[in-house]
Amino acid sequence: MQLSDKIKHTIRDVRDYPKPGVVFKDITPILADPLLMNEMITQLKTDLKDLRLDAIAAVEARGFIFGAILAHALNCRFIPIRKAGKLPYKTVQQEYSLEYGTAAIEMHEDALQPGWRVLVHDDVLATGGTAGAAANLVRHSGAELAGFSFIINLSFLPGELNLLHHFGVKPQYLV
Ligand code: AMP
Repeated sequence: MQLSDKIKHTIRDVRDYPKPGVVFKDITPILADPLLMNEMITQLKTDLKDLRLDAIAAVEARGFIFGAILAHALNCRFIPIRKAGKLPYKTVQQEYSLEYGTAAIEMHEDALQPGWRVLVHDDVLATGGTAGAAANLVRHSGAELAGFSFIINLSFLPGELNLLHHFGVKPQYLV
C-alpha cells in the first residue's frame, strides 16, 4: 500500500467534533503506529531537505508533534508558536480571522533571526488562516518563509490557494 493510503486509512474521522458539521481529522491513531510514523518522517525528510531550513516554526498543539520530530530529523531549530498568553517571555503577536471573530497566536520576540530559512508546520491545513498568521510572524521577524508543511490538506477548503496567493509559496502535505 502507498504511504498516502496508509495515512488515510489510519486517520480517524470524528464527525461533529468540536461542533456539529465538522469532521475532525484525529491523528492520534497515527501517533500510536511507530512503523507508519517512521515512514512518514522519512518521506517528510526527503520532501523538505532541499529547503535547507534553519528552523521549523510549528503551531500548537498538534503541530508540535511532527514539528519537533522533523526539526530533530533535519537538524534545525524548533520554534513553538502558541495561542496568545501561553509563552513565558516577550512575544510578538498576530491576529487572524476565524469563522466567527478573531484569534491570536504568538512567538517569542527573539525566536528567529533575519535571513533564517523557516518552515511553517501544522497537522491540518483547512482555510489557511492559522498557517498564514504563523507565516506573518516569520516574515515580520525578518526571517525568510521557506515553505509550509502539513500532514493533511482538506482539499475541499481554499487553504492551499489562499497560502499560495498570499505568500507565493506552495504548501506541501502528505495527504
Ligand atoms: P485553518 O486555520 O482554518 O487552516 O485551520 C487549521 C487549524 O485548525 C490547524 O491548527 C488544525 O489543527 C485545526 N483544524 C482545522 N480543521 C480541522 C479538522 N477538520 N480536523 C482537525 N484539525 C483541524
